[in-house]
Amino acid sequence: MTEPFYGSDYQALAAFDPQIADVLLTELERLRGGLQLIASENMSSPEVLTALGSTLSNKYAEGYPGRRYYGGCAEVDKAEELAIERCKALLDADHANVQPHSGASANQAVYGAFLQPGEKILAMSLPHGGHLTHGTKVSFSGKWFDAIHYGVHPETENIDYDEVERLAKEHRPKVICAGGSAIPRLIDFERFRAIADEVGAIFWVDAAHFIGLVAGKAIPSPVPHADVVTFTTHKVLRGPRSGALVCREEHAKALDKAVFPMMQGGPQMHTIAAKAVNFKECATPEYAAYASAVIENCQALAARLQEHGIRPTTGGTDTHLTLLDLQGVGVTGADAEARCDAAGITLNKNAIPNDPQKPSIASGIRVGTPCVTTQGMGVEQMTTIADLIDEAVTAGDADPEHEVSRRVRAQVTELVEAFPAYPR
Ligand SMILES: *Cc1c(COP(=O)(O)O)cnc(C)c1O
Repeated sequence: MTEPFYGSDYQALAAFDPQIADVLLTELERLRGGLQLIASENMSSPEVLTALGSTLSNKYAEGYPGRRYYGGCAEVDKAEELAIERCKALLDADHANVQPHSGASANQAVYGAFLQPGEKILAMSLPHGGHLTHGTKVSFSGKWFDAIHYGVHPETENIDYDEVERLAKEHRPKVICAGGSAIPRLIDFERFRAIADEVGAIFWVDAAHFIGLVAGKAIPSPVPHADVVTFTTHKVLRGPRSGALVCREEHAKALDKAVFPMMQGGPQMHTIAAKAVNFKECATPEYAAYASAVIENCQALAARLQEHGIRPTTGGTDTHLTLLDLQGVGVTGADAEARCDAAGITLNKNAIPNDPQKPSIASGIRVGTPCVTTQGMGVEQMTTIADLIDEAVTAGDADPEHEVSRRVRAQVTELVEAFPAYPR
């Protein structure tokens, strides 16, 4: 490099603002020091983080490449054009919009493009694995739109497609949504498409959680079946914290207008540059191998936990996450989360289908393998991790000084030192 690069200069920040510099460093130490099993998290590459910490953050670029409301956009246009082209190629899509600030923002654009206030959407219920933005009462989506919810079948714990069809015919929603934040199984996109066609609905897939597995060609793609696919870029995909969407050409104008100016102001050009870097990473054979390993690891983890009496809902997983029912071991999700936390294992409590507990307590935990797989761990380490989770959950304590917390934490330390996050 011949020019000094302004951004990512830790020494300069530490000299000016030691308090925030300290947070940046201690957060990195927290990441390195424990097991990160939150299914919606991952660890972006230094290349992605470098694009994020760049002067592109300064630029106002309302509009789209070549059609901006501001001057001086020639350079950032290049970044957005690369991001769009790479995204379309990666997902084999007609059209991409890389401006949504987050998954929730991408979802807002779907409502903005296809629905008037008060119109109907059919989506998965939150307690069965959906998402806040799929019509819950606390979200704009449930306040301003009429949401009807389907759930999972009580026996299979998988999406009840017959119920989806029945509700679609009964309510004739404008939009039908597939996808959620706690679905361990593959989704039957063909069936959803057929149901949407039967009632003349737009078929929207919220692929926030699993788009990385699609990008890595480890699971089938929703893109050929859906009118629009929204996603986050920071989950399995491993890019910057942000969102994006791809759609059929016929919906391109409506969705672009819904992202800007209907829902958002200026795009975050540094994040868009980071998305371009991420899409390039995702097109490599290394990333494809990663995506397959994420699933293989999750299946190994779920199988071992099952041996301990911690039951994966649906009997297992096809993806990067497993939802675990703790009723068999008599521990609540909230207690399990606290005990694991004290032992250096970060995961989250989660409602399971037909959960008898309230959401703040829950009967389950959700565990995912994107982070540990990024760290290079394989199925052998998953067995160890499952054993550690079992020990922390069934014998542990929320007190970090408890003997079990200490013992598990010591083994966690050994594991993460062998497979470091962001190696020094
Ligand atoms: C994570 C997630 C979102 C929201 O993404 P944010 O970037 O947090 O706004 C939306 N839908 C689903 C299904 C998700 O899992």
